[in-house]
Amino acid sequence: MNKQHILLVNPWIADFAAYDLWAKPLGLLYIGKFLRSFGYDIRLIDLMDRQCWDKCASMTPISSRGKYHKTIVPKPAIIAHIPRRYGLYGASPEQFLSVLQTIDIPKLILVTSHMSYWYPGVLETVKSLLKFFPESKLVLGGTYATLFPDHARQTIQPDYLITGYGEKRALQIADSVFGKSRDYTRFPNINDSGILPWDLYPKLTVAPLLTSRGCPMHCDYCATPFLNPHFTQRIPENVINEILFLNNEKNIQEFAFYDDALFANKTHHIIPILKGIIKHKVRVKFHSPNGLFAREIDAELALLMKESGFKTIRLSLESIVPEIQKASTNKVSRHNYEYALSNLETAGFKRKDIETYLIMGLPGQKYSDIDITLRYVFEQGAISRLASYTPIPFTRYWNLAKISGHVWDDMDPLLTNNTLYPCATADFPKERFAELRQLSNQLNADVKSKN
Ligand code: SF4
Repeated sequence: MNKQHILLVNPWIADFAAYDLWAKPLGLLYIGKFLRSFGYDIRLIDLMDRQCWDKCASMTPISSRGKYHKTIVPKPAIIAHIPRRYGLYGASPEQFLSVLQTIDIPKLILVTSHMSYWYPGVLETVKSLLKFFPESKLVLGGTYATLFPDHARQTIQPDYLITGYGEKRALQIADSVFGKSRDYTRFPNINDSGILPWDLYPKLTVAPLLTSRGCPMHCDYCATPFLNPHFTQRIPENVINEILFLNNEKNIQEFAFYDDALFANKTHHIIPILKGIIKHKVRVKFHSPNGLFAREIDAELALLMKESGFKTIRLSLESIVPEIQKASTNKVSRHNYEYALSNLETAGFKRKDIETYLIMGLPGQKYSDIDITLRYVFEQGAISRLASYTPIPFTRYWNLAKISGHVWDDMDPLLTNNTLYPCATADFPKERFAELRQLSNQLNADVKSKN
């Protein structure tokens, strides 16, 4: 056993469906980078790394985004009535087992977590880990651990639970497990500079990037203000160097920005970043799986996006209904949205390639609100992407959903799965959400066929 060996684990997703949009466990990798800078030997098992696990099953190259491998497992009793097949997504149990058989016993294991209702995947992962390494200390952190700490403690039973930012706390835990001590007041809670430990991935074809943490907005349904209470942005030069390093040293040509507010403070952030990429003549593709602030896309930014290599563009709109726009911090008006589309089109993007996030299923939201927003996006010639609402603790809409009896404080997070439409009512039942999805698909097909 290496005395300072720490194992990082990105667990299985357990759900009815899951799709890989260039995802990597960035929070866990930041912790890995931090621990490594203090001399710890970091290993990684990323059960969701399609490039690693799917290659055995396929002779063709694995695309940078796509479906995860699914292992069908029994549905938890509380959602057994849902007529869909449930599964563990990612590596097969056999693949996980074969890796566990080959690695050194870690003294400390750090497991992350993502969507709260995926926790059965975390539980299965932890069970396998502890079967192999019963003496290891186990730490659980991430989104589920932060939003449902009591449930996570009871269900996963980790030796340590980290809520919120994990770097400094993980270092303190590692030091106590390995018998060290130091003055922690000298260290910031987070440190976003430097290069993430990408060497832990056997094959990397696309890199997710986080150029900031948090968001200056406070939308009433969003967990970001609670999970990342302080909005911070990295120094543009630091981001440019990360992209250049990954492009030069790892031959990465595709990058996905995972920021919540990539275009905030644009003059001092995204504009110098994109100018730096253009200046260095790096030929890359950029994707934005998270919604971009449409109001910031003026003619200059649209041109820089085109010139630097933006390919996947997703704008936040959420709704054109004033009440929901207000709940969305009024981050985008119809005027802002139309202005962004016009600037992007002038810069050379096609409207039919621009996707627009709309929210559906908020407590009290009407069918007609979503219907008119879908038709509005269609009239603008863009593609709609309906995002089903998930109730999240510590948000204003959680409290609204509580008042209407759709959620309660000690509820099983499985019931917050957006597949279940947790805030459906007798007036607006689940079947009608399916109708809206069909309408979105039909309008999108029309947009694609006309252009
Ligand atoms: S803008 Fe997006 S990330 Fe920011 S608070 Fe609103 S929904 Fe959350």
